Amino acid sequence: MVQVLDGKALAAQLRADIGTRVAGLVAAGHPAPGLAVVLVGEDPASQVYVGSKVRQTAEVGMRSIEHRLAADVAERHLLDLVERLNADQTVDGILVQLPLPAGIDSTRVIEAIDPAKDVDGFHPVNVGRLSSGLPALVPCTPRGCVMLAKRARTDLAGLHAVIVGRSNIVGKPMAQLLLQEHCTVTIAHSRSRDLPGLCRQADLLVAAIGRPEMLGDAHVREGAIVIDVGINRLPTADGRSRLVGDVDYARVAERCEAITPVPGGVGPMTIACLLDNTLTAYSRRRGIPA
Ligand code: NDP
Repeated sequence: MVQVLDGKALAAQLRADIGTRVAGLVAAGHPAPGLAVVLVGEDPASQVYVGSKVRQTAEVGMRSIEHRLAADVAERHLLDLVERLNADQTVDGILVQLPLPAGIDSTRVIEAIDPAKDVDGFHPVNVGRLSSGLPALVPCTPRGCVMLAKRARTDLAGLHAVIVGRSNIVGKPMAQLLLQEHCTVTIAHSRSRDLPGLCRQADLLVAAIGRPEMLGDAHVREGAIVIDVGINRLPTADGRSRLVGDVDYARVAERCEAITPVPGGVGPMTIACLLDNTLTAYSRRRGIPA
C-alpha cells in the first residue's frame, strides 16, 4: 500500500512547533523574530507566494515586514533597500522574491543580502557552507523534501537518490542535503542520456523539472520513494486550471513505496521551512537559543 506523504499536515505540525517556540521567546521577554519580504513587480504567482509568506509569518507570531516595489524600480534602489534591511537590527531574515523583473541582476541582489539573514539560503556563503558540511541557512524547498522523504524512511543512508533538475534553488542543494543523509546521489538534467534508465535506478526519485507529468511508468521502479517538487498549471476543459507535478501521479503512485501529491506535498513545506530558517537566523544572530 503506497504511503502518501502529506506535506500539508507536516507543514502544519512544523508551523505549530515554530509558533510555540516563538511564544516562549516572547514570554521570556525576547523580541519576536522579524522576516522582511521584498516583492518587485506584479507577477501573479509571486504575489500569491508573498501573500502566503506574510500571512503565515504573522500566524506563528513573528513580525512580518513587507516591501512592494514597482516592476521598473532601479536596481540601485532595491540594493539600497537590502542594505537598510541588513543594517536593521529588528530584521532577522530577508527574502527577495524571485524571479526578479528583467533588467535587475538577481545574482547581485542575492549577494547583497547579509548571509546571516539569508533565509532562502541562496547567498554564495550559505551555498559554500552547505557544501562544506558547515552550519548554514539551507534552501527551503530541498529541506522540506528531505523532511518528507524521512517520513517514508527515517534513515535514508545508502539509498540511491536520483534528482532530476540541477537548479541552484532545488536540484543542487537537494544533492548536498542527500549526500549529508549518506545517499548515493545522481543528478540528471536536460542533457542526461537515457533519463528513464537513470530514474529507474532510483530508490529515492526527486523530480524538480517544471514539465507537467513528465516522469511516468518508464521512470519509476517498483518500491521507489518519489518526491515531486514540480508545480505546473494545466488548463482544464471548463476554462479553469489545475495544478500537476512533474510526475504522472495517477500512473505511478500504486507502484511506489511513498509519494508526495501535488498540490499538498512539497509546496506547503517550503514556507514552513522558511519560518524555521528565520527562527534559526534569529537565534544565531542574537545568541538566543530558540
Ligand atoms: P529550473 O527551470 O531552474 O530547472 C529545471 C531543471 O530541470 C533544469 O536543471 C533542467 O535541465 C531540467 N530539465 C528540464 N527539462 C528536462 C528534461 N526534458 N529532461 C531532464 N531534465 C530537464 O526549475 P526549478 O528548479 O526552479 O523548479 C523546478 C520545478 O519545481 C518547477 O515546476 C517549479 O515550479 C517547482 N518549484 C516548486 C517549489 C515548491 O515550493 N514546491 C519551489 C521551487 C520550484 P538543464 O539544467 O539542463 O536546463
